Amino acid sequence: MAFHTQVAVPHLLAIAITGAVLCAAGPALAAEAKPNILFVMIDTLRADHVGCYGYPRPTTPNLDRLAAVGVRFEQMVAASSWTTPSVMSMFTSLPPGLHGVTGPGRALLDNTTTLAAELGRAGYQTIGFTSNPCTHSRFGYGRGFDLYDDFTVMLSSDLNLFEEFDHEKGILNTATSPAVNRLALDWLEQKRDPDRPFLLYLLYFDPHADYAPPSPYDRMFDPDYEGTEDGRGMAERSAGGRPPPLERDRDHVRALYDGDIRFTDDHLGVVLEKMATLGLIENTLIVVVSDHGEEFWEHGGTLHGHTLYEELVRVVCVLSWPGRLRPGTVFPQQVSHIDLMPSILDAAGLPIPKQCRGESFMPCLASPEKVFPRQDCFMETETRNVHLAAIRSAGAKVVMDLKTGQTRGYLLREDPGETAGADCAAAAWCRKPAARLDRWWQGLLREKAAQPGPGLVPAEIDPRLKKQLKALGYLH
Ligand SMILES: [Zn+2]
Repeated sequence: MAFHTQVAVPHLLAIAITGAVLCAAGPALAAEAKPNILFVMIDTLRADHVGCYGYPRPTTPNLDRLAAVGVRFEQMVAASSWTTPSVMSMFTSLPPGLHGVTGPGRALLDNTTTLAAELGRAGYQTIGFTSNPCTHSRFGYGRGFDLYDDFTVMLSSDLNLFEEFDHEKGILNTATSPAVNRLALDWLEQKRDPDRPFLLYLLYFDPHADYAPPSPYDRMFDPDYEGTEDGRGMAERSAGGRPPPLERDRDHVRALYDGDIRFTDDHLGVVLEKMATLGLIENTLIVVVSDHGEEFWEHGGTLHGHTLYEELVRVVCVLSWPGRLRPGTVFPQQVSHIDLMPSILDAAGLPIPKQCRGESFMPCLASPEKVFPRQDCFMETETRNVHLAAIRSAGAKVVMDLKTGQTRGYLLREDPGETAGADCAAAAWCRKPAARLDRWWQGLLREKAAQPGPGLVPAEIDPRLKKQLKALGYLH
């Protein structure tokens, strides 16, 4: 299949990284220097639409190259199924119920530390560029960053992002990767202090609805389509309860989503190429992760946040750190968003704060015979209509509806599509994980009660931010 790309795809990247692998094992100096951290968060990227996770379309050539020289986590389980709680769980190593940032208007408490704060204390430059209004600094996402830019992309006059959202036409421009790249490249080339390590956090937003990639990505994966489906107005359609499109049109929606993914991946490739040109690949831990997936009618709906099924909670995680991580490693055990902060701090040789509920997976990467200590991953999502908690463990998932108290279990090996759940009150295999989920949830409630605060601090939302969150369907 032939492609056209608007963005130069870095063919040099693989060579640059391979060369670095050979070089980095030698000098002791490199081993002593604190690694830079490039933390890339790709919004709304479900794992099974990524090449190195087995997807047949070439959506992610650059991410695939990173996985080939680094580590791919086969089962990264999201802390929640939408941006706000998931990203804060990555930043704090706390489950959503304990960091409390579970919806618009809820902000992080003052006494909670973050990955950026810990790295900053250790002398890191801490820089973040975000393009999702859900991760605005008003809610606490900027804590610990020297610069947390949550305005340039969202207020960009040439993008008019969200400002021109037209509810009649249902057009929502989420093509923000070029703007994120402009900021990232400018910082790497012009503003970085070369004598200090850095945390550079980039949030790419394009795979988020609407699915409206620019040309040629809009026709890249479904060039023969002649219908009227354009992937736009998804939040409006979801809220309006409109009937799903025909299967052929659904295919086209998925192809547009894939075009958004490829568009993002090409931009990621430009940043990686710039890092290689600047000689920064050798001592940089690159982390690429997503906050949640996306539903395309697998369980009758679209978008995210409303369930804890696999299409929403099995997310991407790829690490690269030349000379330190064994190339082409596939890490089979499940890990969670809450494990990212302790793992990154561990990689930087820094202590892990007591606050962290996750575990560092770094020792397991150094010694493959080590078993990751935690067997269960827990999740929670709360939106306008649903409040769910779940446990994912050893081939099984149990989901508890916190509004009704009902629990349903799914055997993920036998029923990977989670189509035939069992009522846990009736299924014997379900009872043990359901009991562990209940214990986790009750413990979390006790902790919340003892720390009245997280989640209760109202965050001010100005009219512009409110408009952006409404356009995306997060406020009504
Ligand atoms: Zn998101």
